[in-house]
Amino acid sequence: MKNKIQLTHKTTCLMILPSKSNILSILLYIMIIKSKVLLKSVFGYDTFRPLQEEIIAHILEKKDALVVMPTGGGKSICYQIPALLFEGLTIVVSPLISLMKDQVDQLRECGVPAIFLNSTLSASQYRSHVERLKKNAVKLLYMAPEALLATRTLALLLSLKVDCFAIDEAHCISEWGHDFRPEYRQLMEIRSMLPDAACAALTATATPRVREDIKKSLRIDVANEFIGSFNRPNLFLEVAPKTRPLEQTLEFLNQYRNESGIIYCATRRQTDDLSAALHRKGYSVRPYHAGLSEEERTQNQELFIRDDVQIIVATIAFGMGINKSNVRFVVHHDLPRSIDNYYQEIGRAGRDGLPAHCLLLFGYGDIRNVQYFITQKTEQEQKVANILLSALIGFAETDLCRRIPLLQYFGEICEQVSCGMCDNCRIEKKDLVDMTIPAQMFLSCVKRTDELFGAGHIIDVLRGSKSQKVLKFRHDRLSTYGIGTVYSAGQWRHLSRQFIQKGLLICEYEHGSLKLSPKAWEVLRAKETVMGRLEEAKKEKDGKSKQEKEAPATYDPPLFEALRKKRKELADQASLPPFTIFHDRTLKEMAARMPGTRNELAGIYGIGAAKLEKYSDIFLEIINQYRHSHKIAEQS
Ligand code: ADP
Ligand code: ZN
Repeated sequence: MKNKIQLTHKTTCLMILPSKSNILSILLYIMIIKSKVLLKSVFGYDTFRPLQEEIIAHILEKKDALVVMPTGGGKSICYQIPALLFEGLTIVVSPLISLMKDQVDQLRECGVPAIFLNSTLSASQYRSHVERLKKNAVKLLYMAPEALLATRTLALLLSLKVDCFAIDEAHCISEWGHDFRPEYRQLMEIRSMLPDAACAALTATATPRVREDIKKSLRIDVANEFIGSFNRPNLFLEVAPKTRPLEQTLEFLNQYRNESGIIYCATRRQTDDLSAALHRKGYSVRPYHAGLSEEERTQNQELFIRDDVQIIVATIAFGMGINKSNVRFVVHHDLPRSIDNYYQEIGRAGRDGLPAHCLLLFGYGDIRNVQYFITQKTEQEQKVANILLSALIGFAETDLCRRIPLLQYFGEICEQVSCGMCDNCRIEKKDLVDMTIPAQMFLSCVKRTDELFGAGHIIDVLRGSKSQKVLKFRHDRLSTYGIGTVYSAGQWRHLSRQFIQKGLLICEYEHGSLKLSPKAWEVLRAKETVMGRLEEAKKEKDGKSKQEKEAPATYDPPLFEALRKKRKELADQASLPPFTIFHDRTLKEMAARMPGTRNELAGIYGIGAAKLEKYSDIFLEIINQYRHSHKIAEQS
């Protein structure tokens, strides 16, 4: 703990014979103040996010920590800031070379001496990195677990002073996680070779089983566990009935021209088809799935990260290690497998804290597909998978604030009744109309067809269809036959979904048949009224306009474009992804506040000392020129 002793010169003279524990707490206090200074001067941020400060203090005290926070929650800073304050080295174990490279690039852009050691380095680069390590000229060393376990690296590391051992994506330790890596299991050996280092394990996986595994493997106890909220308030959550998926996707994309986003599909084939369809419509898009060659996948991912391609259409295979901060939307074209998957996938949106839109197209056909996959599993696995699936359906069908079932799933209690950032919270009461009569028509038709059929057939009967199935069952003779022609089939489908959401109908997923609930009888007996929405398209329009209103302080779009162009140019010159230079949010703030001086620029989100030094002249010039040519006065 030399770093602490270093500070005593300044501090002890202020105190009158303080006790040892007093000194330590004063030193810690000073370190925390220093952390805040570093947050601004290195990373350009004004305040810590929830838990960050506590975790940093904990690690600075050389205590182990398990940090569970959602993707984008800001886990990295929890060990990066202590790394800057410790005298010795911080080793960061990271499972993917691409992820490692991005992180090191970002840190270097902030002026932090960070390096990685892996197989992509040439022999001379490797040697020079080792030299720098020996001279204690490096604060953070990133490595994959395999490389770390190699004998020559171990020997090197044991000769260095290591103050912190951080394990990123720590869920890879657990067989219960989705990315189990056997080498992660051996990290405990290394951890025990570094007794003076604090061990920080970080993950975004919330499942209790995985957390337990991590704690057990690394011998971290409950007192050292930090679990952040899984709420991501900047994500706008929307679930829409899947009726015309391609058109719905196109309508959605139309709202986000020039923005980056990911569209998840269930199969490789669907991924290729949708990607080709979007390409034909003129979108800048690439597919990503396990059927493509490694080279093609890497290339497509790289193009996306560098803003050369706007949209990635992908299977679940895409995303691990994607650190891109300006993903403005995530569309689930098909049903994800579980809330865990859904949450992880939407977690890739809005990592810069700006609003991002997450749309799930929810169709009952998809449920049957997932169910089919489930039937291929063992009996025990089927049980788990069915529970996970019904939690997901519950989330999709709820008419409560969507954050309530979502956070409940992660064991969190949602204190708000309304978040204002999901489709259900955005529906205004005035949009609700009395639907009791159509509800009675529908429910009564379900009853008269003996609760054996799905919504499609009921709608056919209500609309007086002469389909073979209707005639075969003689449903054209029922009193409810043809009584519902005032509504289109689409409107009826939308209505039927609302009836399910409201718990009037129970959907038997195996056969897709609808059954009446006890609540339905109250409606049929006219003891209960049903309020709902009629127009199907209404919801999508609302999502759009309000999402736009939600955008940050009004900024000047042409100036933003000019700044973005410059960022891309600089990024390409330096072979870096654009967001490592500045986040979108930083550019938007520049385009809103139009700083005229270095000092003003320093106050903008995400600009620390190194970036100020490197880029202030270039970006100030663009802003000043723009102001001049548009005759915009200096802002005070
Ligand atoms: P995680 O590892 O939890 O997925 P990161 O550490 O990559 O998330 O952080 C996500 C983004 O949030 C990064 O761009 C990071 O710089 C930014 N960030 C972290 N802490 C803060 C903060 N206190 N204020 C503003 N932005 C922050
Ligand atoms: Zn809500």
